[in-house]
Amino acid sequence: MYMVLDYMPVLNWPFIKRLFLVILFTFGVTYSQNTPSYEQKAVKLMGSAFIFKAIHEDQSLCIESIDKAIKEVRRIEALISSWQANSQTSKVNRMAGRGPVKVDWELFQLIHRSLKVSSVSRGSFDISFASADRIWKFDGSMTSLPDSESVAESVRNIGYENILLNFKDTTVTLTKEGMKIGFGAIGKGYAANRAKAVMTELGIKNGLVNAGGDLICWGKDIDGNDFHVGIADPHDKSNMLAWLVINDLSVVTSGDYERYTHIDGNRYAHIINPKTGYPVQGVASVSIFCPDAELADALATAVFVMGPADGIKFIERLRGIEGIIVDDEGEMFTSKGLELQYYAEKKPEAKPLKKIGLKDEKN
Ligand code: ADP
Ligand code: MG
Repeated sequence: MYMVLDYMPVLNWPFIKRLFLVILFTFGVTYSQNTPSYEQKAVKLMGSAFIFKAIHEDQSLCIESIDKAIKEVRRIEALISSWQANSQTSKVNRMAGRGPVKVDWELFQLIHRSLKVSSVSRGSFDISFASADRIWKFDGSMTSLPDSESVAESVRNIGYENILLNFKDTTVTLTKEGMKIGFGAIGKGYAANRAKAVMTELGIKNGLVNAGGDLICWGKDIDGNDFHVGIADPHDKSNMLAWLVINDLSVVTSGDYERYTHIDGNRYAHIINPKTGYPVQGVASVSIFCPDAELADALATAVFVMGPADGIKFIERLRGIEGIIVDDEGEMFTSKGLELQYYAEKKPEAKPLKKIGLKDEKN
């Protein structure tokens, strides 16, 4: 598990005060005269709803830090997107089977870290899954399954071992024509980490970034308490299955409730099993808890592919990482460290939920 050591190794479970269950609400806060000011902004970025929260006595610093974090996420999107034709990733994809492409060190490293997660997860997480996204659409437009030959063809083009990295000249080669890479399962986590870094470098010691379900928080919430993070029931998003009181932690959920398609009465999530080329069935959501949002993001997808039994075993082998899996039937599986915490603590008092609007942010 070298990869995990490369990331932030120690998950400080004492910081997770209480648990209930699956994501994405930051709870509203009560003001008192002594509390520092804060700024909170919801923006659509990377095709998802991002929420930034900066807490600091200097309100203008809060605003500035969020603006810079938003710019940073846009910069990352332009670099790693496989949708934008001019991105370096698209160039790598266009050159599949034709030769190496020189990329920025930043993208090179992101691919390198992605390959490490692939290796640790034995290919459950694989950025070259993307050859399958040519035949699967999760926007409701598909009415029948793709034919088995197209699925088999896409599987032939999946394989992280066919992504070659040359450290001397930072080139990336996809060795087979038809291969394609995509960062859908790791890019938002990376963006969340970077947004946090930009904000903390500016002096924001308390804050939160929620990158479309990939949440990272640091320090304390506006009322001086730890952050409250609700984990939504994947079968009824308005119902919280559990909630956490956390600081300095990332909570990432991969769920089939955001993007899926129904074909012939079956429900298919947008996560592809790289070994079969078919979308995963049977899992409703996976939440991963660890200090690093990028790692949590990638692992949530990997565990989704593994399913509850293998997924929990996998999480338990990783130091500093905990998780919750909810299957199709609503059954919940938790890793041991989390379970202990869950039973050790009491339910936190409910706080009013603060609703914030979402708007498309113009430059
Ligand atoms: P979400 O986007 O809901 O946060 P994930 O982080 O699990 O969920 O990312 C799912 C996305 O990752 C898919 O939409 C697709 O772009 C990509 N993906 C699908 N299957 C895999 C896989 N096996 N390995 C890596 N990326 C994948
Ligand atoms: Mg993910």
